Amino acid sequence: ALASREYKPEDTVVEVRGHRIGAGGVTIMAGPCSVESLENIVDVAKAVKRLGGHVLRGGAFKPRSSPYSFQGHGEEGLKMMAAAREMTGLPIVSEVMEPSLVDLVAEYVDILQIGARNMQNYPLLREAGRSGKPVLLKRGLSATIEEWLMAAEYILAQGNPNVILCERGIRTYETATRNTLDLNAIPVVKSLSHLPVLVDPSHGVGKRAFVRPMARAGVAAGADGVIVEIHPVPDQAMSDAAQTIDYEEFGRMVQEVNRVAQAL
Ligand code: PEP
Ligand code: MN
Repeated sequence: ALASREYKPEDTVVEVRGHRIGAGGVTIMAGPCSVESLENIVDVAKAVKRLGGHVLRGGAFKPRSSPYSFQGHGEEGLKMMAAAREMTGLPIVSEVMEPSLVDLVAEYVDILQIGARNMQNYPLLREAGRSGKPVLLKRGLSATIEEWLMAAEYILAQGNPNVILCERGIRTYETATRNTLDLNAIPVVKSLSHLPVLVDPSHGVGKRAFVRPMARAGVAAGADGVIVEIHPVPDQAMSDAAQTIDYEEFGRMVQEVNRVAQAL
């Protein structure tokens, strides 16, 4: 398989606007769950940059559990992200949910995000592969590691080598946290595959008090980076408020994960 270490022993490095993911060191991606307004995303982008982040995240097309919840600003949200990139130089990552929208989203973003709910949407994976853009592939809520790597295979098989995996927690019987961040998956995937692996402690735990400790744990387990949800006033975030951290907590997290990486 193209994703396997047998096929390619050396680590894959994905480059976005001069930043190298998987080349050693910790890549930090951060931003709001949803792009809310131009003012908000520019404010967050400046904080991400100032506090040591490398990539700005923000959802414009949102996979909400309820059809009555805010679904995102769509293309307008992508324009706001692009403006924030213009002002800070940070590359941007945003989710695409439909095969027919891959070309549109790819016009704006530096990295296409495939969400957990779409990990096995094979037509979407194929389109993302064809786009030639780097793809951040989140693990499905109930996907085995084997299924996750096979999903990556769909993208790689289109001739697109730039796949970044993201462990974001899986469904278990535990209800104290939103999901269970599967730290096992990080060293397991690093041994099976050459692809870079990020950890998403925000969706992995779902509660803001536990995001920073699990970010540290993910990096200690060998993750190539962390993706987290941040907001100037987390309680006012339009989606995923409970797991969103403020700038101060984010700054602390960046310092700590960098210290963990240096100790390895
Ligand atoms: C997100 O990143 O906001 C998101 C919806 O993530 P996931 O697909 O992992 O649930
Ligand atoms: Mn979210």
